[in-house]
Amino acid sequence: MIEKYAQFVGEDEIDAIVKLAERLQDLSILHVNSTAAGGGVAEILNRMVPLMRELGLRVDWKVIRGDAEFFTATKTFHNALQGTVRDVPSHLYSVYEKWQEINANELDLDYDVVFIHDPQPAGLIKYRKRGKWIWRCHIDLSTPHPEVWAFLKRYVSMYDLAIFHIPEFARDDLEIPQLLIPPSIDPLSPKNKELPPTTVERIVAKFDVDTERPILLQVSRFDWAKDPLGVVEAYRLAKRHVPDLQLVYLGSPAHDDPEGEAVYKKTVEAAGGDRDIHLLMLPPDSHVEVNAFQRAATVVMQKSIREGFGLTVSEALWKSKPVVGGRAGGIKIQVIHGVTGFLATSPRVAAHYVTFLLREKEIREKMGAAGREHVRRNFLITHHLRRYLMAIAYATG
Ligand code: UDP
Repeated sequence: MIEKYAQFVGEDEIDAIVKLAERLQDLSILHVNSTAAGGGVAEILNRMVPLMRELGLRVDWKVIRGDAEFFTATKTFHNALQGTVRDVPSHLYSVYEKWQEINANELDLDYDVVFIHDPQPAGLIKYRKRGKWIWRCHIDLSTPHPEVWAFLKRYVSMYDLAIFHIPEFARDDLEIPQLLIPPSIDPLSPKNKELPPTTVERIVAKFDVDTERPILLQVSRFDWAKDPLGVVEAYRLAKRHVPDLQLVYLGSPAHDDPEGEAVYKKTVEAAGGDRDIHLLMLPPDSHVEVNAFQRAATVVMQKSIREGFGLTVSEALWKSKPVVGGRAGGIKIQVIHGVTGFLATSPRVAAHYVTFLLREKEIREKMGAAGREHVRRNFLITHHLRRYLMAIAYATG
């Protein structure tokens, strides 16, 4: 299957991956995260793990468990680490610690290389018996809540290596080696593979969205960091100029995100019964549906206030759609302002660029093509895989 990616990245890239993998055949490798579906980390692991196995590597993926209190703790930490929550009740630290111990007792962590994804399972390192452990951070750590970061840092400092998406997330106050590896999308996955236009139309029509009229799309969990209310506001402002505009906000629940429902309700309130606003809550495995909407969209938004990377941006760019994105985290390396889309902080500025793109078909197409090429060069799974293999080689000496 790895050969199939040569059509996108060339034979040399594939050869390099195969050669690197050959050197690592004897190692047992484990990925650990906090959800099997929903959100970008699960999205990547669902594609990365089979690909690594196909290269002959011995790879497993395990998901930690927890109760509602644990996921409230980890979501609070997540928000605090990304700088959006200041109030962190102190009992959450012991809830976190308790579940690290439970999971460490239940999971076999006896591997040569262990990738721990994000803060939720980071504390498992305390129970390591052997192997090289890599902390793979997918969130924005540029302005963390000092106390939560101090708590997490005690664990992270025990790792052999930390991997961040972009330079501004790397930490001066960590003494372990740090690598920068952006995430990726898989061009052959159900989410990103080519779809016949008739399939796109059929799926979009099924949700009562009119394929003849312009569609503004955001695909995101219902999370304040994704600014759903800002999306609705930007749509409203753009609709003043483009009256037949429709908004589709496509969300799905994630097992490790307890806030989704409350955010969804507030977004429904903000939509106020506008029949051109489609707030769709689909199951997390609705990959082909997401694919179809991204292809049907006229303009894609990712108006995040905080963002780790924002896979949805690369997914849209790959489908040759310009993206109007928030000036946050990894969006800034995907949306090259004026080339692959526009960066906008306020709903007003976002609406301005959305309106501009809705009116200018030629520019839309030009930016769309630039976006696809930008993703092809930088954010496809083969790049990511090669860098992971290099990280493993580095960690194991
Ligand atoms: N996603 C999805 N259905 C939805 C919402 C999101 O399949 O209704 C997917 C989306 O296509 C992307 C991932 O979930 O692959 C979200 O990753 P991203 O990095 O954008 O954000 P995160 O949720 O990790 O913060």
